[in-house]
Amino acid sequence: MADPQKKFFHIVRVKYCKGCNICVALCPKKVLELRNEKVFPARPDDCIGCRMCELRCPDFAIEVHPVEDKSKFETSVNQVGLGLKSEASHG
Ligand code: SF4
Ligand code: SF4
Repeated sequence: MADPQKKFFHIVRVKYCKGCNICVALCPKKVLELRNEKVFPARPDDCIGCRMCELRCPDFAIEVHPVEDKSKFETSVNQVGLGLKSEASHG
């Protein structure tokens, strides 16, 4: 059941995004914008979690997940070579 109170967050793989604008144009809630030719979730509170952006992105550059799952992803997002690794954390 759709829950209008449910909140979502977006994982953007900036390196994969080519700024094609498909997701921005498809989003029914105008959540997404291009900034510096990369997708940016400008209005995440308006996201209804339809996942059109995720499903239609040709480059797997964006994912949508419920905010309650956010903690599950912080580690994995940092581990998949997205340029988010902290160089200072090398042991
Ligand atoms: S559809 Fe994918 S590649 Fe295109 S702007 Fe959106 S996230 Fe970037
Ligand atoms: S999940 Fe749907 S509403 Fe949310 S940003 Fe993607 S296309 Fe827009």
